[in-house]
Amino acid sequence: TKDDVKSYLLRNAFVLFTVVAVILGVILGFSLRSYKMSYREVKYFSFPGELLMRMLQMLVLPLIVSSLVTGIAALDSKASGKMGVRAVVYYMSTTIIAVLIGIIIVVIIHPGKGTKENMHREGKIVQVTAADAFLDLIRNMFPPNLVEACFKQFKTNYEKKIFKVDIPSNDTSTVASIISNVSEAMETLTRMKEEIVPVPGSVNGVNALGLVVFSISFGLVIGSMKEQGRALKDFFDSLNEAIMRLVALIMWYAPLGILFLIAGKIVEMEDMGVIGGQLAMYTVTVIIGLLIHAVIVLPLLYFLITRKNPWVFIGGLIQALVTALGTSSSSATLPVTFKCLEEINGVDKRVTRFVLPVGATINMDGTALYEALAAIFIAQVNNFELNFGQIITISITATAASIGAAGIPQAGLVTMVIVLTSVGLPTDDITLIIAVDWFLDRLRTTTNVLGDSIGAGIVEHLSRHELKNRDAEMGNSVIEE
Ligand code: ASP
Repeated sequence: TKDDVKSYLLRNAFVLFTVVAVILGVILGFSLRSYKMSYREVKYFSFPGELLMRMLQMLVLPLIVSSLVTGIAALDSKASGKMGVRAVVYYMSTTIIAVLIGIIIVVIIHPGKGTKENMHREGKIVQVTAADAFLDLIRNMFPPNLVEACFKQFKTNYEKKIFKVDIPSNDTSTVASIISNVSEAMETLTRMKEEIVPVPGSVNGVNALGLVVFSISFGLVIGSMKEQGRALKDFFDSLNEAIMRLVALIMWYAPLGILFLIAGKIVEMEDMGVIGGQLAMYTVTVIIGLLIHAVIVLPLLYFLITRKNPWVFIGGLIQALVTALGTSSSSATLPVTFKCLEEINGVDKRVTRFVLPVGATINMDGTALYEALAAIFIAQVNNFELNFGQIITISITATAASIGAAGIPQAGLVTMVIVLTSVGLPTDDITLIIAVDWFLDRLRTTTNVLGDSIGAGIVEHLSRHELKNRDAEMGNSVIEE
């Protein structure tokens, strides 16, 4: 029909705009590099990109809550249980495959040949022990105050430890020493804040994991309440619909935002001169690993399970993938991922609403692959022989670290600390790979979003009988009414 044609053209125009935006962004970025903009000028220049990031982030929390609550309330508890198990099995197995690819590829290519002495370092690293981070992950699942979880920066135990002001008691000089101690502490505090340190499971300082856990439980309860839960279900349904309409508006702006996000980053990036031999090899190794996972493993898995053409499915995701590339944040991309899956790929809303918010929070194949690979690279530059047990430890902690990493830019770099400490590697050596992380982050974020999306397609396929039964049930009840 005429409407179909219109929406087809519109959709392709969007995809075209987005792809053109990336190309223009790269060209603009490189051609402006010679101007050597100051930090402030770069900030002004990237402003349209910053706005896109903020608009998307603005929608993430209401989107997570409303989609999870309605998605789960729309299923019966048996169906949502089955779907949940399928999603978790998919997340775990693809994450483990990703970790294995990372390990195998870094061992084969061995980018860390030589020593680290001639490598360039950047920035400082904050110490976090694996146990602290792990407990925080669990702790964050249960926010004591739901409203606070939505808007307040979430403090963690180790942050408090770092922030403690330490005034030595044996110091005899009085006010001056206290003042100097306090100001030193304040200085550390601001420095820490700058360097900090996404909290496990948080999005943009907000405790997303806690909201996910709450929304799942809330949706289950509402679903089981039948008539009494109706008002709440309708409320969240309507909220979800309204948010998705806002997403549609933002999509008009997205290509412009992406153009400036990419151009701005290229303008401000370090000269490639600092990227010496080992780091260049490391970058190539990460790219190969991510490509194997994204271009071979995930599409193959999709094909084997659904018997449908994975490339058609992935083609429908282009906008989401490009947004991930532009924003480096899988949570900021979440609204676009929803749009692509539901409207272009036609994935059942009950599935996307349920599995996407969870996937965006805990399922990060690209990050898992990256963490394992980077940890072994750091072992290699330290000439540190890893035994089999240590490699297993790295696989387990890399999986945990990817679950704990927030869907925000460079979160994976921070949770790397957990992986390194678990096998006794020097955490300071993260500074060796910071120079290329902004770039690799974009690629692993894109892989993360692809993993979540393919997961939604696979879970939908596996759950088709439950979904049909549910449709029949609902149909019957409508007839009865
Ligand atoms: N930036 C990534 C994401 O949002 C997380 C990471 O740093 O690995 O998915």
